[in-house]
Amino acid sequence: MGLIWEKKLKQITKELQDSKRMLNQERTKREEEAREHQELEIRAWETERRLRQYQERERRIRDMFKYEYWKRISPLYSMELTDLRKSVRPDTLFYSQEEKSWGVAVCYCYQCREVLEAQYFSSELEALRYMAIKQILGISPEFDTCMECYQNHMKACA
Ligand SMILES: [Zn+2]
Repeated sequence: MGLIWEKKLKQITKELQDSKRMLNQERTKREEEAREHQELEIRAWETERRLRQYQERERRIRDMFKYEYWKRISPLYSMELTDLRKSVRPDTLFYSQEEKSWGVAVCYCYQCREVLEAQYFSSELEALRYMAIKQILGISPEFDTCMECYQNHMKACA
């Protein structure tokens, strides 16, 4: 009888130790998970902070550019015609008898240099101002092929 009890006691002790070990393992696992979770939260928070910094910097740069362009564009609105004539490259400006207005070439044929598209203004001043703004922004005229040059090209190829 005593031997059986001893055996039983040993078994219970072993089960208890096993349970304790499992409980410890479980606790360690939980702690690890909690730590990982915390690290992830910190990382997410840092990423968010960095993103905000980046957006802020981008906004500042954009504002700086806007201000720089505005500083250069706004004086054009109080500039005299003669001064505007001097500060604008005249190559895209022309007077159209047909339209009875001033045109600024927007698109040329790159072979015969014919103006394919233009923006028209009722005064030279307005046309020059338009050209000056494009010049400041660094926008050049576009190039395309006119119908005649295209047909000539197709004939030459045939
Ligand atoms: Zn052409």
